[in-house]
Amino acid sequence: MKTLNELPVAVLGAGPVGLAAAAHLLQRGLRPIIFERGVGVGANLETYRHVRLFSPWQYNIDKAARQRLECNGWQAPANDGLPTAGELLDSYLSPLSKLPELEGALKLRHTVVQITRQGFDKVKSRGRELAPFVLRVAGPDGERDYLARAVIDASGTWSNPNPLGAYGVAALGERELGDRIVYGMPDVAGTQRAQYAGRRTLVVGAGHSAAGTLLALAELAESVAGTSIVWATRGDQLARVFGGGEADGLPARGQLGLRLKALRDSCKLELHTNFRVTGLQQEASGIRVVGEHPDGQQDVISGVDRIVAATGARPNLELTREMRVRHDPWLESTDALAPLIDPNEHSCGTVRPHGHRELAHPEPGYFAVGAKSYGRAPNFLMATGYEQVRSVVASLVGDMAAADSVQLDLPETGVCNTRLAYDGEAKEDKGCCGGPAVDASAACCALDEAEKAKGQSGCSSLSACTPRPKASACCA
Ligand SMILES: Cc1cc2nc3c(=O)[nH]c(=O)nc-3n(C[C@H](O)[C@H](O)[C@H](O)COP(=O)(O)OP(=O)(O)OC[C@H]3O[C@@H](n4cnc5c(N)ncnc54)[C@H](O)[C@@H]3O)c2cc1C
Repeated sequence: MKTLNELPVAVLGAGPVGLAAAAHLLQRGLRPIIFERGVGVGANLETYRHVRLFSPWQYNIDKAARQRLECNGWQAPANDGLPTAGELLDSYLSPLSKLPELEGALKLRHTVVQITRQGFDKVKSRGRELAPFVLRVAGPDGERDYLARAVIDASGTWSNPNPLGAYGVAALGERELGDRIVYGMPDVAGTQRAQYAGRRTLVVGAGHSAAGTLLALAELAESVAGTSIVWATRGDQLARVFGGGEADGLPARGQLGLRLKALRDSCKLELHTNFRVTGLQQEASGIRVVGEHPDGQQDVISGVDRIVAATGARPNLELTREMRVRHDPWLESTDALAPLIDPNEHSCGTVRPHGHRELAHPEPGYFAVGAKSYGRAPNFLMATGYEQVRSVVASLVGDMAAADSVQLDLPETGVCNTRLAYDGEAKEDKGCCGGPAVDASAACCALDEAEKAKGQSGCSSLSACTPRPKASACCA
């Protein structure tokens, strides 16, 4: 029987963060085994390959992956270029996955369905940290169990979209009308154009995905008569999706918001704010979408041909049902990460540096990283995931100095700085985040730190931040 240290480290998902984890494992002399559900790497990115990303190449390439690729003659694209998701796949992830040491470790069309520990169910304690992980994996030849010394779960959230129903559960009729609903970012002006041209499409959501789809539909409407766009948002504060404009550290992200605001102002779309989707019904003229306003009044959007649900995504927690995991009750990230990314408090699109400590669960050796680490919180950036896996892998080899030295320099959305930019629309904007590593500062965020440095009492006095109790406290 193999000892724990002879086993590979299992990586779930061959997206940008899973592949980066594998590169870091190899750099540290550990053996990865990568399970990927899709027929190719980056299977989630593949579904939105037409979308131009808002972060330039400089933020999109992991350092360990770059080093490995460059040693094999690869030339990185120009730092300031903005790839589409497809270009990220074709020019970076695909060549990375073809390096022999990664290709040999990669199991495509292998879906991890459950993770546990050999000889232990969730209840049994003594000695569990010495037991290998067991991964039940569904592959082309059926189910098989694999053993691993540690698990890095980079399975993302994109394949687990939130429903249209505004209360977190499917709206009545949502399942029955599923053939008219697309979750995510369909290529409405390209490969799927025929389904949207000359039709009335409802986009539900108020994030970057909704913005991108609305702008693509507007482009389609310019060239195909009869194409009409309806936009429904759960709240009435659009400041976050309009973003920081010129103040955004990622100009393309700022432009996305500005273009959406211009589209809204142009009256080329029908906007329903405060529209909480509760039900869908089929009528002769199309889908009748029923919503509820905050005051309880009913509203209706009629004659809809297709619906794009850009309502976010959530992690698949079923995978770790038999593991000792502890999640924040509403974000479903770890407890320690939640206060740093809670969208109820933060809007600046960055996060304080964090690593293996904030990502650890009570189950030693299991880490959820990448988009999955954020649980239901939005605004995850690849660069965050790359630093997460660097820290996690360093901790796995016991290099705690490197594991604890977390550094992250992410561009902010500028929403914190522009609260007056869209007069009357920014009143919900309370947020800021970023700042130094948690261990290096007692401040809750960058604004807090700046205020304290000025001798003021911090951002809570500005009602800009409402820090939660520190997750490291043992009790209330
Ligand atoms: C439309 C859109 C635009 C974005 N633009 C940017 C941007 O400009 N810049 C930026 O930094 N970030 C951006 N992001 C956010 C984020 O960086 C990406 O979502 C990124 O792909 C996350 O990487 P990941 O590896 O964590 O997860 P994913 O890319 O989602 O990869 C997860 C992988 O795991 C696989 N998988 C899932 N479940 C299983 C399972 N059970 N077993 C095996 N495999 C499994 C999936 O098939 C997938 O390949 C964007 C996100 C979206 C949705």
